[in-house]
Amino acid sequence: MRVLVTGGAGFIGSHVCDALLGEGHTVVCADNLLTGRMENIAHLRNEPRFEFLEQDVSQAFDCGKVEYILHFASPASPADYMKYGIETLQVGSLGSMNCLEFAKRYNAKFLLASTSECYGDPHEHPQKESYWGRVNPIGPRSVYDEAKRFAEALTMAYRRYHNVDTRIVRIFNTYGPRLQINDGRVISNFMRQALSGEDLTVYGDGSQTRSFCYVSDEVAGIMALAKSDEHGPVNIGNPSEFTILECARAVLEVTGSKSKLRYQPLPQDDPKQRCPDISKARQLLGWEPVVDLRSGLQMSLDHFKSAVRAVAAGVQESAAG
Ligand code: NAD
Ligand code: UDP
Repeated sequence: MRVLVTGGAGFIGSHVCDALLGEGHTVVCADNLLTGRMENIAHLRNEPRFEFLEQDVSQAFDCGKVEYILHFASPASPADYMKYGIETLQVGSLGSMNCLEFAKRYNAKFLLASTSECYGDPHEHPQKESYWGRVNPIGPRSVYDEAKRFAEALTMAYRRYHNVDTRIVRIFNTYGPRLQINDGRVISNFMRQALSGEDLTVYGDGSQTRSFCYVSDEVAGIMALAKSDEHGPVNIGNPSEFTILECARAVLEVTGSKSKLRYQPLPQDDPKQRCPDISKARQLLGWEPVVDLRSGLQMSLDHFKSAVRAVAAGVQESAAG
């Protein structure tokens, strides 16, 4: 197949490009590099089945006939989407509409990268796909949450009204190599801080929970869903739940760091708990994650070490220059 991956120069998107190429497909990666990096796809430079298109997918575009569209373009870390609030709303709405129009025009299948943020600060725990969520529509996180909820509604509408063959994956917190060191997410912050001997910044009292999925597990789940006939949303994440304090301890253990914890205020509307119910994915796709948090952090260590070195070298360079 010729497959379009939007956001393919980002963290998860670049791993999806690798997986598709590994299965023998041809990949067109469309990305405007808002939060992604060419380094994530540098290893594909000489791959004849890979094409990079520097493109804002919120603007109309056409890369020629494709058989599948995997729509991953969107800032994803809270720091990024709060910085690029309007762009996040645009790519969730206009970007998704452009991609769905594209799917309709070329009779291509479509998969939306949605998010556990659709559940907001949930009252149901763990979260099943049937839960409608508890989202503040006007809070600082709404630029992301509501953009993704709109994108889900749009995806279902193109399916109902235009017969587009669609899928929706609700991704839960994912980490691993290529996660941006400076994107403000908890794993990137803690790994950077631990490896640089800085205090780990715990927001609130650290009792809020998240469930962290290693990127190879996440991509395996996404690929299985892409090949399935399931059109309702499917949670893909790791159901092992950790408090942020437990996560900090795991990072200190894996890095061997002596860093201390520094408590900072909890950001507004920060969800108190998050954990996927993955019964649907288990049953429909025969998928479940296999990498636990400590092993995943261990496998990410080289990436974070070299990213920390690159930041330090950049700082020295700019001080010298
Ligand atoms: P990322 O920021 O690393 O990647 C997003 C990519 O989209 C970047 O390369 C960025 O440049 C690109 N992009 C943004 N706006 C664009 C536009 N208008 N046109 C073209 N490209 C654009 O983030 P990620 O963690 O890889 O997330 C990828 C997708 O997965 C996102 O849609 C995100 O909402 C979803 N997701 C991720 C997580 C996670 O834990 N990483 C959790 C839930 C959902
Ligand atoms: N967090 C933290 N310290 C940090 C970054 C994040 O304690 O340096 C917390 C944050 O408040 C949230 C959790 O870690 O409760 C996960 O945050 P992240 O930004 O990774 O993703 P979210 O799941 O909130 O989208």
